[in-house]
Amino acid sequence: MINITLPDGSQRQVESGTTALDVAMGISEGLARNVLAAEVNGEVLDPQRPITEDASLKLLTWNDEEGKRTMWHSSAHLLAEALEALYPGVKFWVGPPIENGFYYDVDFGDHTISDKDFPAIESKMMELAKQKNPFVRSEMSKADALAYFEEKGDEYKLDLLEGLEDGTITFYNQGNFTDLCRGPHMPHTGHVKAAKVMAIAGAYWKGDESKKQLTRVYGITFPKKQELNAYLELLEEAKARDHRKLGKELDLFHFSEKVGQGLPLWLPKGADLRMRLESFLKEAQRKAGYEGVITPHIGNKELYITSGHYAKYGEDSFQPIHTPAEGEEYLLKPMNCPHHCEIFKSRPRSYRDLPVRFAEFGTVYRYEQSGELHGLTRVRGFTQDDAHIFCTVDQVKEEVGKVIDLVLYIFRTLQFEDFIAQVSLRDPENPDKYIGADENWNKAEKAIQEVADEKGLKTVVELGEAAFYGPKLDFMVRDAIGRKWQLGTVQIDYNLPERFELEYVGADNSKHRPVMIHRAPFGSMERFVAILIEHCAGKFPLWLTPEQVKILPISDRFNEYAERVSKVLENHDIRALVDDRSEKVGKKIRYAELEKVPYMLILGENEAKEETVSVRRQGEGDLGGMSVEAFAEHIRSEIAEMLK
Ligand SMILES: [Zn+2]
Ligand SMILES: [Zn+2]
Repeated sequence: MINITLPDGSQRQVESGTTALDVAMGISEGLARNVLAAEVNGEVLDPQRPITEDASLKLLTWNDEEGKRTMWHSSAHLLAEALEALYPGVKFWVGPPIENGFYYDVDFGDHTISDKDFPAIESKMMELAKQKNPFVRSEMSKADALAYFEEKGDEYKLDLLEGLEDGTITFYNQGNFTDLCRGPHMPHTGHVKAAKVMAIAGAYWKGDESKKQLTRVYGITFPKKQELNAYLELLEEAKARDHRKLGKELDLFHFSEKVGQGLPLWLPKGADLRMRLESFLKEAQRKAGYEGVITPHIGNKELYITSGHYAKYGEDSFQPIHTPAEGEEYLLKPMNCPHHCEIFKSRPRSYRDLPVRFAEFGTVYRYEQSGELHGLTRVRGFTQDDAHIFCTVDQVKEEVGKVIDLVLYIFRTLQFEDFIAQVSLRDPENPDKYIGADENWNKAEKAIQEVADEKGLKTVVELGEAAFYGPKLDFMVRDAIGRKWQLGTVQIDYNLPERFELEYVGADNSKHRPVMIHRAPFGSMERFVAILIEHCAGKFPLWLTPEQVKILPISDRFNEYAERVSKVLENHDIRALVDDRSEKVGKKIRYAELEKVPYMLILGENEAKEETVSVRRQGEGDLGGMSVEAFAEHIRSEIAEMLK
């Protein structure tokens, strides 16, 4: 008999050779039906593998990340089986699971394939899924495996076999398809209840342009039909919210080949939005005791050698700028931190000065390969809402707490409601990986966890995810359609103070190293605006949106009254524009809705006579008539409520 320990700590005594599926069966038949894989002593395996020693066991279903990956990887085999049935003679390279689904790299030989063929592939996959063919594992000697694929004339699998050691080779068979694979796989193909081929793309064999081009077939599968439908709806919704599309429609930013790839140009409305975000954060930072600093866009190469950034970004990044007369080398700055260290060093510091908090909207440049560039989320030049706090070890907790308060304030005003904090700590197995005294690490790790609890944050702790120079806390946000983004980071750093030999004089009159905290609530203005656009689908919060009110006279006769209303609103610092084109008012309303303007004021005979406005709120419809002053007050109080 062996002992099986389940995640809740409960134990079962079972015969040696019992499988994870048997254990699931012993709990409930419903559970057994949903098990896709099993984590046995930390290793993910086929759930029908016999367990022969005492083990901790976790049964993995679609709701576990590894369960999902097992289903998608198994689905790549199902896709291959379908393709082999439809296109005899096709050959396969590799078929891994990815973030959403899986792909398989395929050599279609003489066959050609286009998106018109997708439905036939999907039906074939479903036909094979319904057969509930089990995935059967067999071990094979290298010689037998080589013979099998030589017989098949499959140069791709022969190439894969070359790299494998005899005694480690396993095959998996389901239905009419056999593949060289390490596994694990789900019990049978019947777990797939919906399959979709998403796309095809060219992919060089082994990513090498001198080698043959294969076809990468992307697919996704689900254990329920409704889940596929929900996923496709989400994709449609994400497409409608794509910041590149909305950025164009709302006139926010532009990219010009002539200026260069990955270098965004902010158009007036986008610049207005970004500057308002910056002012908002500057004001919040001023209240929180930050001091603004400004540093140049380039720095001497020596600065980045000292900071260690040259080793990290130097060689394959932008090339140095030379001063011909003096023979110096300058680099576009990849980080603001080294500059801020030099500001700290600009004069002697005493413990009484600490903490000091230097803030800068600092523009940095990093070389990204052109294939990696993506709208505003991946660019070559971007502005961080950066700040560095220099403090004593004992001040870390309070300072991290203040940063958390600031981030929570920002999330609230920008309507990000669903988030967790990820706390990244040292890997206890690898204590030598980290620089800085143990005692300081212990203090800082404890401080971060305590303060996150005190602030009532939902946290997950990740061991081994800390940077080599210090622990950190990152906010992971879910947007309005459920996608996850990392926003707002707080990092403790023992490294740069050491490299720059930063010091302050303590109460004991001797010299000490300060701790440095890097923090950026938005991260970068470019990426943050992109996420915000997609989160609110271009309908920015009232306080932030470039145009708050559109004034719509129903005919030319009321243009003059419209101008007067506009003046009154302007005096109240409300951003309003008059649409005085000779169009029907219905059409003007539709334009304003497309531009996602929160308020519309409709002006006609009655309004002009009584000096009132008829108010429409985007998404809510008619709010009725009121005086201009009452409307201005309505907006003022709505904004005050959001920013309090
Ligand atoms: Zn496999
Ligand atoms: Zn920094």
